Amino acid sequence: MTVPRRVPCKGIQRQPGGIRYVSTGLDKMTIEQLIENTEKDFMSRNLATPRLDAEVLLASFLKKDRTWLYTHPGQDVSAREMDGFSFWVARRQKGEPVAYIIGRKEFWSLDFAVDPRVLIPRPDTEVLVEEVIKVLGSGRASRPEILDLGTGSGAIAVALAHECPHARITATDISRKALAVSAGNAERHGVASRITFLEGNLLDPVMGKFDVIVSNPPYIDSGDYARLSAEVRNFEPREALLAGEQGMDFYSAIIPQAACRLKPGGWLLLEIGDSQKENLNRLFQQSDAYQDLAFRKDYAGRWRVVKAKIREEESG
Ligand code: SAM
Ligand code: GLN
Repeated sequence: MTVPRRVPCKGIQRQPGGIRYVSTGLDKMTIEQLIENTEKDFMSRNLATPRLDAEVLLASFLKKDRTWLYTHPGQDVSAREMDGFSFWVARRQKGEPVAYIIGRKEFWSLDFAVDPRVLIPRPDTEVLVEEVIKVLGSGRASRPEILDLGTGSGAIAVALAHECPHARITATDISRKALAVSAGNAERHGVASRITFLEGNLLDPVMGKFDVIVSNPPYIDSGDYARLSAEVRNFEPREALLAGEQGMDFYSAIIPQAACRLKPGGWLLLEIGDSQKENLNRLFQQSDAYQDLAFRKDYAGRWRVVKAKIREEESG
């Protein structure tokens, strides 16, 4: 019979909190006990979703899904597994997002690899993908050319490539490290041959014209950034979020630049913050290059997307 033993871990500073948490003196615990212990610990640290976090972390650690946890509550977790798991718990205790700990985040029902090189894709951004699909309409059957500015994990570009099998997509980011992650996600979902990744500032590295230009650029102003949760501020890339004093720096650059890069009938779609609708409205009016301006809320009822069509040449 093999006796579970603790594996000594040289050179790694063990989190006192993390170790105390599993050092119950027990050789093993059941799935149910371990989830409950972890949940209580997270609750005592005021984490927002303690049960969910405990379940997602444990399921991923054991390489199972959450349903498996529910159907095996009495299954033993060995002391060795508890030891390994305690490192993940310690990271969460320090506020690290669950997605970075498990290295994955679901977006558009697809599994994305994520790590601190990229912003964790937000569910709110799915409405931006929905709007792109709407403007493509029946054009999805042809070969639309789409540009995704600031692709990060590649969430938008990969979701669109997956949804529109004939689309050709160009995805840019100023961060080379982010592009390594998005290229990996394109491979993972079998769409790498239809996405070209380019490094550079907004439209600078891009050639040609597009049917759709889409972007979820940084849009947090410096005041709001200071008020974001420590979980976001301490772990997610600043350059993915911060957009100057008014949060408008990227919109002011993208709106005029995109006007020169849209084909006739082309659309620009941008993710926005809830309080930015009026500012965006003003920017689009000033530009004079667009028509059919429209805003859309996300499923939490916050303004989230603006879209506009390139102005058609008036003839005669
Ligand atoms: N598209 C991803 C998503 O929706 O989850 C990531 C969006 S994140 C809010 C913004 C992205 O823009 C980051 O990946 C960041 O590196 C990139 N970025 C920041 N400044 C940029 C610039 N000047 N040119 C291109 N990309 C930029
Ligand atoms: N919605 C993101 C947040 O909650 C902001 C994304 C962005 O700046 N594009 O922090």
